[in-house]
Amino acid sequence: MSDIQRKPSWLRAKLPNGPGYMETRRNVDSHQLHTVCQSAQCPNMGECWSRGTATVMILGNTCTRSCTFCAIQTGRPTELDLGEPARVADSVARMGLKHVVVTSVARDDLKDGGASVWAATIRAIRYRCPQTAIEVLPADFRGQQEHLDTLLDAKPDILNHNMETVKRLQRPIRKTANYERSLWVLTHAKSRGFVTKSGIMLGIGEKEHEMVELLKDLRAIGVNILTIGQYLQPTKNHEPIDRWVTPEEFAHWKSFGLGMGFDVIESGPLVRSSYHADEQSDGFKLV
Ligand code: SF4
Ligand code: SF4
Repeated sequence: MSDIQRKPSWLRAKLPNGPGYMETRRNVDSHQLHTVCQSAQCPNMGECWSRGTATVMILGNTCTRSCTFCAIQTGRPTELDLGEPARVADSVARMGLKHVVVTSVARDDLKDGGASVWAATIRAIRYRCPQTAIEVLPADFRGQQEHLDTLLDAKPDILNHNMETVKRLQRPIRKTANYERSLWVLTHAKSRGFVTKSGIMLGIGEKEHEMVELLKDLRAIGVNILTIGQYLQPTKNHEPIDRWVTPEEFAHWKSFGLGMGFDVIESGPLVRSSYHADEQSDGFKLV
């Protein structure tokens, strides 16, 4: 087995188990929810679900895009589930979360990219759980401002949109999305006064100077919170891993980014966009 096939010890995560984990699983199953935790094969499921947190994925579980790093199933979605917002809100209420992260697949097949379901979901959660901070992680609505505004008009607390990787690697791995459009999502949300957040994977081929450029671009548009984690190849048909990034390098990017002025950076091998999201928002005035 080559070094790149052998996972380093720092990537061993807690196994799914225990009563907290089982309760989260029952909640997700009984509300027929999709979670990115499961669909993206997140290594943190044992830890997050045991803490009673999960990231809900709305608009179904089939994405119209096919990013080469992503484990989520792609294809032509067959349904639009209008009962989803109420079930999501009910599930959040049952979990008693102080902070919820909601994401979605990209729905380029829908005229509004799913913005109306996004807005309904945010409002349903707000109605059922007025004390819960709502972090949303939508796709880019193909750059159509009216649809992004439909979502923002529902007043989430944090607008999270992942850059995923450096500028040069956008086209090879993201295909339908692009660097400028993702910066635009974050810029527009900031112009409307939202706390903004983004996420990056390391170990997919980026170079150090390209990371610096990306962090500068995010700071220039006032992004508040950043997550940086190790890319993990979901199957051998996905983008190969370029390298295992050491915990020391993750620590370096954290201190480098904080020095640039980001408010919060979560950086580590197992960090994902929604990892410890409740703790990252502690310093902000939300809801
Ligand atoms: Fe995965 Fe998002 Fe790309 Fe869809 S748009 S394939 S969910 S990363
Ligand atoms: Fe789910 Fe996010 Fe935790 Fe992964 S890090 S298990 S996606 S809540």
